[in-house]
Amino acid sequence: MIKTFKLVRKIAALRMPVYITMIDDALVDSGPYSLHRQVRKIIGEHQIQSVIHTHHHEDHTGNSPWIEKHMQIPQWIHANGVEKCLEDTKLPFYRSVFWNNRKAFNPMELSGDEFKTKQHTFKIVHTPGHADDHIILIDEENGICLSGDLYLYHSPTSHFSFESVPELIHSLNIALTYSFKEVYCSHGGYLPNGRRLMERKRDFLLNIQETVLNHYREGRTISEIRNMLFPKNKPFQYLSLFENSPIHTVNSIIKK
Ligand SMILES: [Zn+2]
Repeated sequence: MIKTFKLVRKIAALRMPVYITMIDDALVDSGPYSLHRQVRKIIGEHQIQSVIHTHHHEDHTGNSPWIEKHMQIPQWIHANGVEKCLEDTKLPFYRSVFWNNRKAFNPMELSGDEFKTKQHTFKIVHTPGHADDHIILIDEENGICLSGDLYLYHSPTSHFSFESVPELIHSLNIALTYSFKEVYCSHGGYLPNGRRLMERKRDFLLNIQETVLNHYREGRTISEIRNMLFPKNKPFQYLSLFENSPIHTVNSIIKK
């Protein structure tokens, strides 16, 4: 049984969806603290026996401290994420407004390369690029991938300062070596043709990477390349005070 729940953070005219998913009795990600009422209601209606996190970000772990305090169940995260969860987050203002800071909690380190529930066996695949501890879960028998924040959108032209386009391409290529068709995305929900969309994103980023490297070899600077390829700033980039910006897209390719 796979069941996904859409949670929506609304601030003025802004809407930010985030999904948490039940696989049999395991919860994948605990959602942001700002939506804790909805998350606690979902938890109350299900017999959850464990929590597995796709990565440490506050919109994926926000209710894990509450789960730790009130339920005696194991919570798992990739080894690279354990330490990040042992401290309260200190988020940039816009992220704390949207998702709220997350208190410290004590997840266990994921070991092995499989995660089993009653009806599903998922391969645990390390896919850094969005976060160092990012994993996706793939059930090849049923053709399903829970992609966390690896996919998000098929043609992104802007990235966060902590992201790396070459690593994202590498991780998408690794994901695509597995057999699956359907994708459950943490912000896009159920995507019946998710594999095609992931291929499209990989190809889009490969194309950007090649174009950026060509301009760089011809002697252009990072900001010249940014201004040529992505001249405009979108509202979200201002809102994030440029923690999200095309400059990070270009930078992460040149830095490789
Ligand atoms: Zn994330």
